[in-house]
Amino acid sequence: MNLTSGEDLLALDRTHIWHPYASTDPTAPLYPVASAQGCELELYDGRRLIDGMSSWWCVIHGYNRPELNEALTRQTHQMAHVMFGGLTHEPAVTLAKKLVDLTPQGLEKVFFADSGSVSVEVAIKMALQYQMSQGKAEKSRILSLRKGYHGDTLGAMSLCDPVTGMHHLFQAILPQQLFADAPACGVRDPWDPACLDSLKELLHNHHQTIAALIVEPIVQGAGGMRFYHPQYLRESRALCDQFDVLLIADEIATGFGRTGRMFACEHAGITPDILCLGKALTGGYMTLAATLCTNKVADGICSGEAGVLMHGPTFMANPLACAVANASLDLLCSSPWQERVARIEQQLINELSPLEKYQAVKEVRAFGAIGVVELHEPVNMKVVVPRLVEQGVWLRPFGRLLYTMPPFVISSDQLSQITAAMADICQFLSQ
Ligand SMILES: *Cc1c(COP(=O)(O)O)cnc(C)c1O
Repeated sequence: MNLTSGEDLLALDRTHIWHPYASTDPTAPLYPVASAQGCELELYDGRRLIDGMSSWWCVIHGYNRPELNEALTRQTHQMAHVMFGGLTHEPAVTLAKKLVDLTPQGLEKVFFADSGSVSVEVAIKMALQYQMSQGKAEKSRILSLRKGYHGDTLGAMSLCDPVTGMHHLFQAILPQQLFADAPACGVRDPWDPACLDSLKELLHNHHQTIAALIVEPIVQGAGGMRFYHPQYLRESRALCDQFDVLLIADEIATGFGRTGRMFACEHAGITPDILCLGKALTGGYMTLAATLCTNKVADGICSGEAGVLMHGPTFMANPLACAVANASLDLLCSSPWQERVARIEQQLINELSPLEKYQAVKEVRAFGAIGVVELHEPVNMKVVVPRLVEQGVWLRPFGRLLYTMPPFVISSDQLSQITAAMADICQFLSQ
Protein backbone atom coordinates (compact mmCIF):
# COMPACT_ATOMS: atom_id res chain seq x y z
CA MET A 1 0.00 0.00 0.00
CA ASN A 2 1.41 3.32 -1.03
CA LEU A 3 -0.47 6.30 0.35
CA THR A 4 1.01 9.08 -1.69
CA SER A 5 -2.06 11.08 -2.53
CA GLY A 6 -4.28 13.03 -0.19
CA GLU A 7 -7.32 11.31 -1.72
CA ASP A 8 -6.02 7.82 -0.88
CA LEU A 9 -5.36 8.91 2.67
CA LEU A 10 -8.78 10.44 3.08
CA ALA A 11 -10.55 7.40 1.67
CA LEU A 12 -8.88 4.99 4.10
CA ASP A 13 -9.25 7.43 6.98
CA ARG A 14 -12.98 7.65 6.32
CA THR A 15 -13.20 3.87 6.40
CA HIS A 16 -11.32 3.21 9.63
CA ILE A 17 -10.55 6.18 11.84
CA TRP A 18 -12.29 8.06 14.63
CA HIS A 19 -11.37 11.75 15.00
CA PRO A 20 -11.83 13.82 18.19
CA TYR A 21 -15.48 14.39 19.12
CA ALA A 22 -16.55 13.16 15.70
CA SER A 23 -18.98 10.75 14.15
CA THR A 24 -17.92 8.64 11.20
CA ASP A 25 -19.77 11.15 8.98
CA PRO A 26 -17.88 11.12 5.65
CA THR A 27 -18.95 14.67 4.79
CA ALA A 28 -17.24 16.36 7.77
CA PRO A 29 -14.34 18.51 6.51
CA LEU A 30 -10.99 16.71 6.90
CA TYR A 31 -7.59 17.82 5.60
CA PRO A 32 -4.50 15.62 5.18
CA VAL A 33 -1.33 17.35 6.41
CA ALA A 34 1.94 16.40 4.72
CA SER A 35 4.31 18.46 6.86
CA ALA A 36 4.49 21.51 9.08
CA GLN A 37 7.08 24.22 9.42
CA GLY A 38 7.15 27.33 11.60
CA CYS A 39 3.55 28.47 11.97
CA GLU A 40 2.33 26.74 8.81
CA LEU A 41 0.75 23.40 8.01
CA GLU A 42 1.30 22.10 4.49
CA LEU A 43 -1.51 20.06 2.98
CA TYR A 44 -1.06 17.25 0.44
CA ASP A 45 -2.27 19.49 -2.37
CA GLY A 46 0.47 22.01 -1.55
CA ARG A 47 -1.78 24.55 0.18
CA ARG A 48 -0.27 26.17 3.26
CA LEU A 49 -2.39 27.09 6.27
CA ILE A 50 -1.32 29.45 9.05
CA ASP A 51 -1.99 27.56 12.28
CA GLY A 52 -4.06 29.67 14.65
CA MET A 53 -4.59 26.73 17.02
CA SER A 54 -1.03 25.71 17.97
CA SER A 55 -2.43 22.19 17.56
CA TRP A 56 -4.70 22.64 20.59
CA TRP A 57 -2.48 24.96 22.65
CA CYS A 58 0.70 22.84 22.40
CA VAL A 59 2.97 24.07 19.62
CA ILE A 60 4.20 27.27 21.27
CA HIS A 61 7.54 27.42 19.37
CA GLY A 62 6.11 26.51 15.95
CA TYR A 63 6.62 23.26 14.03
CA ASN A 64 9.82 21.50 13.09
CA ARG A 65 12.17 23.39 15.43
CA PRO A 66 15.80 22.30 14.96
CA GLU A 67 16.49 22.52 18.73
CA LEU A 68 13.61 20.17 19.54
CA ASN A 69 14.32 17.82 16.64
CA GLU A 70 17.89 17.58 17.84
CA ALA A 71 16.93 16.85 21.47
CA LEU A 72 14.64 14.06 20.33
CA THR A 73 17.21 12.52 17.98
CA ARG A 74 19.93 12.69 20.62
CA GLN A 75 17.74 10.94 23.19
CA THR A 76 16.73 8.27 20.66
CA HIS A 77 20.37 7.21 20.48
CA GLN A 78 20.55 6.88 24.30
CA MET A 79 17.25 5.08 24.88
CA ALA A 80 13.75 5.72 23.61
CA HIS A 81 12.12 4.23 26.67
CA VAL A 82 12.73 2.43 29.92
CA MET A 83 10.22 1.53 32.63
CA PHE A 84 10.06 4.00 35.54
CA GLY A 85 9.30 1.49 38.30
CA GLY A 86 12.55 1.05 40.22
CA LEU A 87 14.58 2.81 37.47
CA THR A 88 15.26 6.47 36.75
CA HIS A 89 17.03 8.54 34.08
CA GLU A 90 18.55 11.92 33.42
CA PRO A 91 15.79 13.43 31.21
CA ALA A 92 13.16 12.82 33.92
CA VAL A 93 15.31 14.09 36.79
CA THR A 94 16.34 17.21 34.85
CA LEU A 95 12.74 17.89 33.90
CA ALA A 96 11.40 17.42 37.43
CA LYS A 97 13.96 19.90 38.76
CA LYS A 98 13.12 22.42 36.03
CA LEU A 99 9.40 22.13 36.78
CA VAL A 100 9.88 22.53 40.53
CA ASP A 101 12.03 25.65 39.90
CA LEU A 102 9.63 27.19 37.36
CA THR A 103 6.29 26.57 39.09
CA PRO A 104 4.96 28.59 42.04
CA GLN A 105 6.94 28.23 45.28
CA GLY A 106 6.04 25.21 47.39
CA LEU A 107 5.35 22.55 44.75
CA GLU A 108 8.09 20.00 45.35
CA LYS A 109 7.03 16.58 44.07
CA VAL A 110 6.43 15.63 40.43
CA PHE A 111 4.38 12.74 39.05
CA PHE A 112 4.80 12.26 35.27
CA ALA A 113 1.70 11.15 33.39
CA ASP A 114 0.94 10.39 29.75
CA SER A 115 -1.67 13.03 29.02
CA GLY A 116 -3.50 15.94 30.58
CA SER A 117 -6.55 13.87 31.45
CA VAL A 118 -4.41 11.29 33.21
CA SER A 119 -2.66 14.03 35.20
CA VAL A 120 -6.12 15.14 36.38
CA GLU A 121 -6.96 11.56 37.39
CA VAL A 122 -3.73 11.50 39.37
CA ALA A 123 -4.60 14.84 41.01
CA ILE A 124 -7.97 13.41 42.10
CA LYS A 125 -6.28 10.34 43.58
CA MET A 126 -3.71 12.53 45.35
CA ALA A 127 -6.46 14.64 46.91
CA LEU A 128 -8.48 11.63 48.08
CA GLN A 129 -5.48 9.72 49.38
CA TYR A 130 -4.29 12.83 51.23
CA GLN A 131 -7.64 13.33 52.95
CA MET A 132 -7.78 9.65 53.90
CA SER A 133 -4.30 9.95 55.40
CA GLN A 134 -5.63 12.76 57.59
CA GLY A 135 -8.42 10.51 58.85
CA LYS A 136 -10.99 12.30 56.66
CA ALA A 137 -12.17 9.58 54.31
CA GLU A 138 -15.57 11.26 54.16
CA LYS A 139 -13.91 14.07 52.18
CA SER A 140 -14.32 12.17 48.94
CA ARG A 141 -15.93 14.55 46.47
CA ILE A 142 -14.35 17.21 44.27
CA LEU A 143 -15.78 20.70 43.91
CA SER A 144 -15.49 22.08 40.39
CA LEU A 145 -16.66 25.14 38.45
CA ARG A 146 -19.35 25.31 35.80
CA LYS A 147 -18.04 26.02 32.28
CA GLY A 148 -14.85 24.18 33.22
CA TYR A 149 -12.98 21.55 31.22
CA HIS A 150 -10.58 19.04 32.73
CA GLY A 151 -10.29 16.19 30.22
CA ASP A 152 -12.10 13.21 28.77
CA THR A 153 -11.31 10.21 30.98
CA LEU A 154 -14.13 9.34 33.38
CA GLY A 155 -12.78 11.00 36.52
CA ALA A 156 -11.70 14.12 34.64
CA MET A 157 -14.98 14.20 32.74
CA SER A 158 -16.93 14.17 36.02
CA LEU A 159 -15.29 17.57 36.72
CA CYS A 160 -16.21 19.16 33.37
CA ASP A 161 -19.22 21.44 32.99
CA PRO A 162 -22.21 19.15 33.58
CA VAL A 163 -24.07 20.47 30.52
CA THR A 164 -21.38 20.81 27.83
CA GLY A 165 -19.58 17.81 29.35
CA MET A 166 -22.65 15.70 28.49
CA HIS A 167 -22.85 14.16 31.95
CA HIS A 168 -26.31 12.76 31.23
CA LEU A 169 -24.79 10.36 28.66
CA PHE A 170 -22.56 8.75 31.25
CA GLN A 171 -24.61 9.37 34.37
CA ALA A 172 -24.64 5.68 35.22
CA ILE A 173 -20.89 5.55 35.72
CA LEU A 174 -19.71 9.09 36.49
CA PRO A 175 -18.78 10.07 40.04
CA GLN A 176 -21.16 12.78 41.27
CA GLN A 177 -19.21 15.96 42.01
CA LEU A 178 -20.27 19.42 43.16
CA PHE A 179 -20.35 22.48 40.90
CA ALA A 180 -20.09 26.15 41.76
CA ASP A 181 -21.25 28.84 39.33
CA ALA A 182 -18.66 29.86 36.75
CA PRO A 183 -16.77 32.99 37.89
CA ALA A 184 -18.81 35.87 36.48
CA CYS A 185 -16.31 38.65 37.10
CA GLY A 186 -14.15 39.22 33.98
CA VAL A 187 -10.38 39.46 34.16
CA ARG A 188 -10.40 43.24 33.51
CA ASP A 189 -13.72 44.05 35.28
CA PRO A 190 -13.77 45.76 38.67
CA TRP A 191 -13.73 43.02 41.31
CA ASP A 192 -17.20 41.95 42.39
CA PRO A 193 -17.18 39.84 45.59
CA ALA A 194 -20.69 38.55 44.78
CA CYS A 195 -19.23 36.26 42.12
CA LEU A 196 -17.84 34.12 44.95
CA ASP A 197 -21.24 33.53 46.55
CA SER A 198 -21.93 30.16 44.99
CA LEU A 199 -18.46 28.80 45.80
CA LYS A 200 -18.68 30.06 49.38
CA GLU A 201 -22.09 28.55 49.90
CA LEU A 202 -21.07 25.13 48.58
CA LEU A 203 -17.93 25.07 50.70
CA HIS A 204 -19.85 26.23 53.74
CA ASN A 205 -22.53 23.58 53.35
CA HIS A 206 -20.48 20.63 52.09
CA HIS A 207 -16.86 21.05 53.18
CA GLN A 208 -17.07 17.90 55.33
CA THR A 209 -17.40 15.83 52.14
CA ILE A 210 -15.11 17.85 49.83
CA ALA A 211 -11.52 16.71 49.27
CA ALA A 212 -10.48 19.41 46.83
CA LEU A 213 -11.55 22.32 44.65
CA ILE A 214 -10.31 22.11 41.06
CA VAL A 215 -10.02 25.24 38.90
CA GLU A 216 -8.50 26.30 35.62
CA PRO A 217 -6.69 29.43 36.84
CA ILE A 218 -7.89 32.70 35.15
CA VAL A 219 -8.76 31.05 31.81
CA GLN A 220 -11.61 28.59 31.52
CA GLY A 221 -10.56 26.99 28.23
CA ALA A 222 -12.45 24.34 26.29
CA GLY A 223 -15.55 24.81 28.48
CA GLY A 224 -16.19 28.33 27.15
CA MET A 225 -12.98 30.35 26.66
CA ARG A 226 -13.72 32.73 29.54
CA PHE A 227 -11.22 34.91 31.42
CA TYR A 228 -11.95 35.63 35.08
CA HIS A 229 -10.66 37.94 37.80
CA PRO A 230 -7.44 36.99 39.67
CA GLN A 231 -9.13 37.96 42.94
CA TYR A 232 -11.44 34.98 42.45
CA LEU A 233 -8.40 32.73 42.55
CA ARG A 234 -6.90 34.48 45.57
CA GLU A 235 -10.18 34.16 47.49
CA SER A 236 -10.54 30.52 46.42
CA ARG A 237 -7.11 29.82 47.89
CA ALA A 238 -8.16 31.43 51.19
CA LEU A 239 -11.49 29.57 51.26
CA CYS A 240 -9.76 26.23 50.64
CA ASP A 241 -7.45 26.91 53.60
CA GLN A 242 -10.40 27.95 55.75
CA PHE A 243 -12.37 24.79 54.98
CA ASP A 244 -9.48 22.31 54.88
CA VAL A 245 -10.00 21.62 51.19
CA LEU A 246 -7.06 21.15 48.79
CA LEU A 247 -6.76 23.46 45.78
CA ILE A 248 -5.98 21.77 42.46
CA ALA A 249 -4.91 24.14 39.65
CA ASP A 250 -5.38 22.66 36.18
CA GLU A 251 -2.83 24.64 34.13
CA ILE A 252 -2.79 22.14 31.29
CA ALA A 253 -3.97 24.84 28.86
CA THR A 254 -2.60 27.95 30.58
CA GLY A 255 0.86 26.74 31.60
CA PHE A 256 4.11 27.83 29.94
CA GLY A 257 3.36 31.42 29.07
CA ARG A 258 0.02 31.37 27.27
CA THR A 259 -1.58 33.99 29.55
CA GLY A 260 1.45 36.30 29.67
CA ARG A 261 2.81 34.73 32.88
CA MET A 262 4.67 31.44 33.00
CA PHE A 263 1.70 30.02 34.94
CA ALA A 264 -1.73 31.64 35.28
CA CYS A 265 -1.61 31.18 39.09
CA GLU A 266 1.02 33.94 39.07
CA HIS A 267 -1.66 36.50 38.14
CA ALA A 268 -3.02 35.93 41.64
CA GLY A 269 0.28 35.13 43.36
CA ILE A 270 -1.00 31.84 44.74
CA THR A 271 0.40 28.32 45.06
CA PRO A 272 -2.07 25.46 44.64
CA ASP A 273 -1.64 22.25 46.64
CA ILE A 274 -1.69 20.25 43.41
CA LEU A 275 -0.86 21.46 39.89
CA CYS A 276 -1.60 19.74 36.57
CA LEU A 277 0.56 20.48 33.53
CA GLY A 278 0.43 19.15 29.97
CA LYS A 279 -0.18 20.43 26.45
CA ALA A 280 2.73 22.89 25.80
CA LEU A 281 5.07 20.97 28.13
CA THR A 282 6.89 19.34 25.19
CA GLY A 283 6.35 22.23 22.77
CA GLY A 284 3.78 20.03 21.06
CA TYR A 285 6.21 17.22 20.16
CA MET A 286 5.06 14.34 22.35
CA THR A 287 2.29 13.57 24.76
CA LEU A 288 3.47 14.23 28.31
CA ALA A 289 1.88 15.68 31.43
CA ALA A 290 2.80 16.14 35.05
CA THR A 291 1.01 16.45 38.39
CA LEU A 292 2.96 18.39 41.00
CA CYS A 293 2.16 18.63 44.70
CA THR A 294 3.49 20.13 47.90
CA ASN A 295 5.47 18.18 50.48
CA LYS A 296 2.46 18.45 52.78
CA VAL A 297 0.32 16.50 50.33
CA ALA A 298 3.09 14.02 49.44
CA ASP A 299 4.03 13.34 53.06
CA GLY A 300 0.38 12.83 53.97
CA ILE A 301 -0.15 10.31 51.16
CA CYS A 302 2.98 8.37 52.07
CA SER A 303 2.04 8.22 55.74
CA GLY A 304 -1.46 7.01 54.91
CA GLU A 305 -2.92 3.54 54.81
CA ALA A 306 -1.67 2.69 51.29
CA GLY A 307 1.70 4.35 51.98
CA VAL A 308 2.14 4.91 48.24
CA LEU A 309 0.50 6.98 45.53
CA MET A 310 -1.62 4.43 43.66
CA HIS A 311 -0.82 5.20 40.02
CA GLY A 312 1.88 4.12 37.56
CA PRO A 313 1.42 4.34 33.80
CA THR A 314 3.46 2.03 31.54
CA PHE A 315 5.03 4.95 29.69
CA MET A 316 5.54 7.08 32.79
CA ALA A 317 8.31 9.70 32.30
CA ASN A 318 9.08 8.45 28.79
CA PRO A 319 12.68 9.59 28.12
CA LEU A 320 11.97 10.91 24.61
CA ALA A 321 9.11 13.04 25.91
CA CYS A 322 11.14 14.29 28.90
CA ALA A 323 14.13 15.12 26.68
CA VAL A 324 12.05 17.16 24.27
CA ALA A 325 10.26 18.85 27.20
CA ASN A 326 13.65 19.88 28.60
CA ALA A 327 14.66 21.35 25.25
CA SER A 328 11.30 23.10 24.92
CA LEU A 329 11.60 24.70 28.37
CA ASP A 330 15.16 25.83 27.58
CA LEU A 331 13.95 27.33 24.33
CA LEU A 332 11.07 29.08 26.07
CA CYS A 333 13.14 30.47 28.93
CA SER A 334 15.84 31.78 26.57
CA SER A 335 13.28 33.48 24.27
CA PRO A 336 11.56 36.84 24.73
CA TRP A 337 8.24 35.05 25.26
CA GLN A 338 6.75 37.75 27.52
CA GLU A 339 7.18 40.39 24.81
CA ARG A 340 5.86 38.01 22.18
CA VAL A 341 2.74 37.15 24.15
CA ALA A 342 2.17 40.82 25.04
CA ARG A 343 2.48 41.79 21.38
CA ILE A 344 0.05 39.04 20.33
CA GLU A 345 -2.43 40.16 23.01
CA GLN A 346 -2.27 43.79 21.85
CA GLN A 347 -2.69 42.82 18.21
CA LEU A 348 -5.63 40.53 19.04
CA ILE A 349 -7.30 43.36 20.98
CA ASN A 350 -6.69 45.83 18.13
CA GLU A 351 -7.80 43.58 15.31
CA LEU A 352 -10.62 41.59 16.92
CA SER A 353 -12.36 44.37 18.91
CA PRO A 354 -13.83 45.97 15.74
CA LEU A 355 -15.66 42.67 15.05
CA GLU A 356 -18.16 43.50 17.80
CA LYS A 357 -19.93 45.66 15.22
CA TYR A 358 -21.14 42.53 13.41
CA GLN A 359 -24.64 41.40 14.19
CA ALA A 360 -23.57 37.75 14.52
CA VAL A 361 -21.05 38.62 17.24
CA LYS A 362 -21.99 38.61 20.90
CA GLU A 363 -18.64 39.52 22.45
CA VAL A 364 -14.95 39.77 21.63
CA ARG A 365 -12.28 39.12 24.26
CA ALA A 366 -8.53 38.63 24.33
CA PHE A 367 -6.12 37.71 27.10
CA GLY A 368 -2.50 36.72 26.66
CA ALA A 369 -2.07 34.86 23.39
CA ILE A 370 -5.76 33.91 23.27
CA GLY A 371 -8.33 35.72 21.12
CA VAL A 372 -12.02 34.83 21.24
CA VAL A 373 -15.02 35.88 19.19
CA GLU A 374 -18.18 34.64 20.87
CA LEU A 375 -21.07 34.41 18.41
CA HIS A 376 -24.81 34.34 19.05
CA GLU A 377 -25.29 31.04 17.21
CA PRO A 378 -23.25 27.82 16.99
CA VAL A 379 -20.89 27.69 14.03
CA ASN A 380 -21.71 25.39 11.13
CA MET A 381 -18.33 23.68 10.80
CA LYS A 382 -19.05 22.31 7.33
CA VAL A 383 -19.34 25.87 6.02
CA VAL A 384 -17.00 27.84 8.24
CA VAL A 385 -13.93 25.58 8.30
CA PRO A 386 -13.61 25.28 4.48
CA ARG A 387 -14.08 29.06 4.23
CA LEU A 388 -11.19 29.60 6.66
CA VAL A 389 -9.04 27.09 4.77
CA GLU A 390 -9.72 28.94 1.51
CA GLN A 391 -8.18 31.97 3.18
CA GLY A 392 -5.10 29.99 4.18
CA VAL A 393 -5.94 29.83 7.87
CA TRP A 394 -6.37 26.87 10.22
CA LEU A 395 -8.87 27.40 13.05
CA ARG A 396 -11.20 24.93 14.68
CA PRO A 397 -14.18 26.73 16.17
CA PHE A 398 -16.48 24.97 18.62
CA GLY A 399 -20.05 25.78 19.52
CA ARG A 400 -20.49 29.55 19.42
CA LEU A 401 -16.76 30.20 19.75
CA LEU A 402 -14.40 31.28 16.98
CA TYR A 403 -11.01 31.62 18.61
CA THR A 404 -7.26 31.54 18.16
CA MET A 405 -4.27 30.73 20.35
CA PRO A 406 -1.35 30.97 17.93
CA PRO A 407 2.25 29.83 18.43
CA PHE A 408 4.22 32.51 20.33
CA VAL A 409 6.56 32.87 17.34
CA ILE A 410 3.81 33.93 14.92
CA SER A 411 4.67 37.06 12.89
CA SER A 412 2.34 40.04 13.00
CA ASP A 413 1.57 39.53 9.28
CA GLN A 414 0.57 35.93 9.91
CA LEU A 415 -1.55 36.93 12.89
CA SER A 416 -3.23 39.62 10.77
CA GLN A 417 -4.15 36.93 8.24
CA ILE A 418 -5.80 34.95 11.03
CA THR A 419 -7.76 37.92 12.38
CA ALA A 420 -8.75 38.93 8.82
CA ALA A 421 -10.15 35.44 8.25
CA MET A 422 -12.03 35.67 11.56
CA ALA A 423 -13.42 39.03 10.43
CA ASP A 424 -14.50 37.49 7.13
CA ILE A 425 -16.39 34.76 9.00
CA CYS A 426 -18.13 37.31 11.25
CA GLN A 427 -19.17 39.36 8.23
CA PHE A 428 -20.30 36.25 6.34
CA LEU A 429 -22.38 35.04 9.32
CA SER A 430 -23.98 38.49 9.72
CA GLN A 431 -25.34 38.67 6.16
C1 LIG B 1 -6.68 19.73 27.22
C2 LIG B 1 -6.99 19.86 28.64
C3 LIG B 1 -7.07 18.73 29.48
C4 LIG B 1 -6.92 17.32 28.96
O1 LIG B 1 -5.66 17.06 28.43
P1 LIG B 1 -5.47 15.84 27.40
O2 LIG B 1 -3.99 15.84 27.14
O3 LIG B 1 -6.28 16.18 26.19
O4 LIG B 1 -5.93 14.61 28.07
C5 LIG B 1 -7.35 18.93 30.81
N1 LIG B 1 -7.52 20.16 31.32
C6 LIG B 1 -7.43 21.26 30.55
C7 LIG B 1 -7.61 22.60 31.17
C8 LIG B 1 -7.18 21.16 29.19
O5 LIG B 1 -7.14 22.24 28.42
